[in-house]
Amino acid sequence: MTPLFHPQPVNDPFGDPAVYVDFLFERRALLFDLGDLTPLPARKILRLSHVFVSHTHMDHFAGFDRLLRLCLGRERELALYGPPGFIDQVEHKLAAYTWNLVHNYPVDFTLIVAELHADQTLHRARFRCRTRFQREPLDLVPVPDGILLDEEGFVVRAMLLDHDIPCLGFALEEKLHMNVWKNRLQELGLPTGPWLKELKRLVRQQAPDNTPVRIHWRDHSGEHERMESVGPLRGEVLHIVPGQKIAYVVDAVYHAENARRIVELVRNADILFMETVFLTQDAERAATRFHLTARQAGTLARAAGVKHLVPLHFSPRYSDDPEALRREAEAAFAGDITQ
Ligand SMILES: [Zn+2]
Ligand SMILES: [Zn+2]
Repeated sequence: MTPLFHPQPVNDPFGDPAVYVDFLFERRALLFDLGDLTPLPARKILRLSHVFVSHTHMDHFAGFDRLLRLCLGRERELALYGPPGFIDQVEHKLAAYTWNLVHNYPVDFTLIVAELHADQTLHRARFRCRTRFQREPLDLVPVPDGILLDEEGFVVRAMLLDHDIPCLGFALEEKLHMNVWKNRLQELGLPTGPWLKELKRLVRQQAPDNTPVRIHWRDHSGEHERMESVGPLRGEVLHIVPGQKIAYVVDAVYHAENARRIVELVRNADILFMETVFLTQDAERAATRFHLTARQAGTLARAAGVKHLVPLHFSPRYSDDPEALRREAEAAFAGDITQ
């Protein structure tokens, strides 16, 4: 299948951890964590619609200024998500600048900022350029199962983890992945076109089989229209497989409750981007800094049935031998060593 999401770490594993997720066929992207974004060109940053921040240690949040700088003066809205206290921290970032002239801007840039709390509610606020980024409270939203974002084709789920402070792990889950059998369309004498998007939407919503689908097209012989229904079309022209799942987990200490939460969040992920900050020989250091070792990360990924593990967030102490971290994570992931 052609994947819908194309995730890529922004930096090398010793740089700030962040993963950029590009969408196929759409000028759109998501970002997990907001540290150093230097390698990302402006056009890629401007494609972001939602940014998910695990926590506000500098290596995960220092890129906020670059994002703000690029978005300023553009008519657009950007959503930011983070752990408890995040709205205050965004407000403080904004308060560091002087905004006396922005009310003259012809366009408005709006930030919608949300923080996930342990009682599964999302606290939200809006900051608009036109009003000098003064905080405007928004309604509290309940978020069952930690689902921060629920769109037609995918959800983004978050899990609160312990990093001495609350830190969020994330999972991006495509609902169903649907490909069109072009040869079947031809056999049925049907064209491609926007009706296929509508059909996919109806299938995702589990519309009843007899729901009508209007297929309208124009060719050299004129206008055509056919009425079909969802059930037969779904069986004939769509190839439906489970959607992609991409998970991102950084900055969490190893203990039973975190392990349970991480496994639940990343279960069966196709790709898991995960911190492997220290080697087992430095496990004590890992524990006091509330990070995972490479072995712990590999073991958790294995327990969760993850298909592909991408280690990142390497401590600079291993800059001479980054392969040692990869080898240790890989061995644990393969089941050659255990926790
Ligand atoms: Zn941290
Ligand atoms: Zn970190």
